Amino acid sequence: MLLKLKILKYLSRYRKKQVPDNEEALIKWQNKKIKRHLKRVAKKSPFYAERLKKYGSWDKFPVINKEIFMENFDSINTHGIKKEDAYKVATQAEESRDFSSMIGKVTVGLSSGTSGNRGIFLASVDERAQWVAYVLLHVLGWQWKQRKVAFFLRANSNLYSAAKSKLIDFNFFDLKDSITNNLEKLQNYQPDVIVAQPSMLIQIAKAQKAGRIKIQPKKIISVAEVLEAFDHSLLKRTFNQVIHQAYQCTEGFLAKTCEYGTLHFNEDIVKIEKNYLDDSQERYHPIITDFTRSSQPIIRYELNDIIIDKKEPCPCGSIFQAIDHIEGRADDVFLIKNAKGEEIQIFPDFIRRAIILATTKVQEYIVEQTGPKEIIFYLDSNDFDTAKIAVTESVLDLLEHYHINDCKLIFKDTIPATTMNKLRRIKRSC
Ligand SMILES: [Zn+2]
Repeated sequence: MLLKLKILKYLSRYRKKQVPDNEEALIKWQNKKIKRHLKRVAKKSPFYAERLKKYGSWDKFPVINKEIFMENFDSINTHGIKKEDAYKVATQAEESRDFSSMIGKVTVGLSSGTSGNRGIFLASVDERAQWVAYVLLHVLGWQWKQRKVAFFLRANSNLYSAAKSKLIDFNFFDLKDSITNNLEKLQNYQPDVIVAQPSMLIQIAKAQKAGRIKIQPKKIISVAEVLEAFDHSLLKRTFNQVIHQAYQCTEGFLAKTCEYGTLHFNEDIVKIEKNYLDDSQERYHPIITDFTRSSQPIIRYELNDIIIDKKEPCPCGSIFQAIDHIEGRADDVFLIKNAKGEEIQIFPDFIRRAIILATTKVQEYIVEQTGPKEIIFYLDSNDFDTAKIAVTESVLDLLEHYHINDCKLIFKDTIPATTMNKLRRIKRSC
């Protein structure tokens, strides 16, 4: 009940919130917020207290990343929680499928990253309420009528049950359930809104196209994985509407789609700096500073996601920085030596383009660099042989451009199952 009251409090606060409408004022506003936030969290976070003493101002702090963050977890968090204890509690909760894991009054959860690299998130009652209020207001959109929300998750959370009200009916769909069960449940529920990861949305779209289910959602929100243009267009075609995205990770709720379908950073809760990766300043790693989260303060934290900048202004008029698309992660950039023995980086978008532009005969694909000079192509196609020839030619052209001439290309005609794991169409596993 306490959580519900707090959600209402934040809803009312957020609805009244005034965010500057020009860039210069926004920067000043963010700066003020960060300073105040840092002053508060430094009292309980030895890590940030030390930095503040040493560097004076947040913008002079050296950039941190996941590795540094996890190494210093115990002194970064403001509840004195030890990393080992947090892992233990969160893992137990997941194994027993009881997702109300707490240490004291703090909720502990695991992010859905790959094993060995999973992040921990800590959230106080206040932070949970803030998050729910923000999502209700900015993602689901406030409406004075009852809506049914189908929420596909790897793990249920008491967050969603707390958000249930006369206006929002949340229904949790367990990703561990079989797809047949989930589709049947979806058909019976007839949701107004669907929130799910792209790999699940694709399955729903395929079932709808094949006539196995018949639903009329008014809003579709893609979460948790990169929504690729390839999948985006299938969803758009099937449901005939703008497909929304919520770009969220353990480190924060970073961006959401506006009514024109553009992803904008949530610059009213997080400050974004850019570490450009190429000379043309097209792609970058975001460096984030969140000025709302206090259990696990995030200040100048570089993500390894690769973002493609959208330079032209969005017709919605928002001054929040726009994202053209999320290309993937630094770990998924292919690394292959050329004829001179130099290591060449091939960004995921180039691989993607080499497939999509080569042929229209590919329904689905996954490409994986499995060795220093080995790439496997999983192609789902009703004309596999033709698709294989076209993709081979196109990829060889790409590799030749980089003077790579002895790379082994392997083709397989089935796509490995990815229901529970994150769908990554382009990945490097070596
Ligand atoms: Zn926009």
